[in-house]
Amino acid sequence: MTVFHDLLKVQEHDTAADRLRHRRQTLPELAELVATEDELSRLETRLAEEGVKAAEAARHQRRLEGELALLESKVSELDAKLYSGMVTVPRELQAMQTEGAAMRERRASLEDEVLEAMDAREVVDGQVADLERRRGELDGQGVRLRAAVAEGQAGVDRELVEELAAREVAVESIPADLTTLYEQLRARLGGVAAAPLVNGRCGGCHLALPATEVARLRKEPAESLVRCEQCERILVRL
Ligand SMILES: [Zn+2]
Repeated sequence: MTVFHDLLKVQEHDTAADRLRHRRQTLPELAELVATEDELSRLETRLAEEGVKAAEAARHQRRLEGELALLESKVSELDAKLYSGMVTVPRELQAMQTEGAAMRERRASLEDEVLEAMDAREVVDGQVADLERRRGELDGQGVRLRAAVAEGQAGVDRELVEELAAREVAVESIPADLTTLYEQLRARLGGVAAAPLVNGRCGGCHLALPATEVARLRKEPAESLVRCEQCERILVRL
C-alpha cells in the first residue's frame, strides 16, 4: 500500500459524494415539484383572467335584470292606468295601448337577453370552478412533493455526511502537495483526479496506454508519482 492507494480511497469517497450531490439535485420528486409549481403559476394567471370575465358576466346579468324589473314596473303602471277607467279619451287609450305593446315587446327581448346572460355566466363560472378544482389538486400535489423532496434530500444528506467523514479520515495520510495536485486535477477533470491503472488502461480516460509506456511505468518505484500521459490524471498502480 502506497500513499497513492490511499489517494484512490479519497477519490472513491469524493466520487461517491459528487454522486450524492448530483442525486440531491436530480431527485425525481424535485422535477415533479418544479412542473407542479409551473402549472400552478400558469393556472393562477388563467384564474385571474377568468375571474375578471366572471365578474363582468355577473355585472352584465344584474344590469339586464335591473332593466327588466324597471320595465315590468312601467308595464304594471301603464296597465293599472289603462284599466282604471280614468282615461276615457279614445286617442289617449290608443296611444297607451301602442306604448304598452312596445314595452311588452321590449320586455320579451330583455327576457331573452337575461337568459343568454345567465347561460354565458354559467359557462364562465364553470370554467372558474374547474380551474379552482385543479388548483386544489395542484396545491395538494405540491404539499406531497415538497414533503417527498425534503425526505429524499434528508436521506441523501445523511449519506453525504458519512461519506465526507470517511473522506476526512482517508485524506489524513496524504501529503499536502499531493492533495493540492489532486484538488487541482479534480477541479479541471470533472471530479476525477486519481485513477487506477488496470490492464494497461487508464481508469480515468479509459484509453489504453502504449505498451512501452506501461512497461516504463512498471519500472518506476512504487512511491513515485506517475500520471496518465493522455489525461494527466494520477495513475495508481494496483
Ligand atoms: Zn488517462
